[in-house]
Amino acid sequence: MGTSNTKKGRSTVIFLDIDGVLNKHTDISEQKYFINETLLENFKQLVDRTGSKIVLSSTWRLSKPAVEILNKTFDEYGIPRISSKTSNIQSSSSCNFSERPEEIYLWLKINTDYFDKKIKITNFVILDDMDLIKEKSFAEYRQGHFVKIDPVDGLTKEKVAEAIKILEYV
Ligand SMILES: [Mg+2]
Repeated sequence: MGTSNTKKGRSTVIFLDIDGVLNKHTDISEQKYFINETLLENFKQLVDRTGSKIVLSSTWRLSKPAVEILNKTFDEYGIPRISSKTSNIQSSSSCNFSERPEEIYLWLKINTDYFDKKIKITNFVILDDMDLIKEKSFAEYRQGHFVKIDPVDGLTKEKVAEAIKILEYV
């Protein structure tokens, strides 16, 4: 880990969803993988301020072209590239979105000392337009670490402030 990830001795992680967070449901684009520049500027403020590592939890992580577009766009905006991705849990149900809380939980368990002794992290925040608090699996670990994004607005400055408050919480 570089020094950019450490602000005042902190090492923090952002679990990033893309659709409904870095783009809005009302955005109209011919591109399959679209990122809203205004929302990306808001995200840049969050990363610049906190120096957090970015872990991709969005379904974009399952598409190589999507991850390439994301990293290239981050390069253009001076945002550090994706550090890691959550694993993909194959769901027996038709709706794979319900697996996201467990996928994030597993990433924390495998990669950090949040539950175990590995990479030390001081805090993490989950940005998602799905209400992950309502999802049943491992509900407790998300309490106080979740910023629910409204997909109509995406990642607003207010939501950035909410995320900063969580990441800088002592
Ligand atoms: Mg989403």
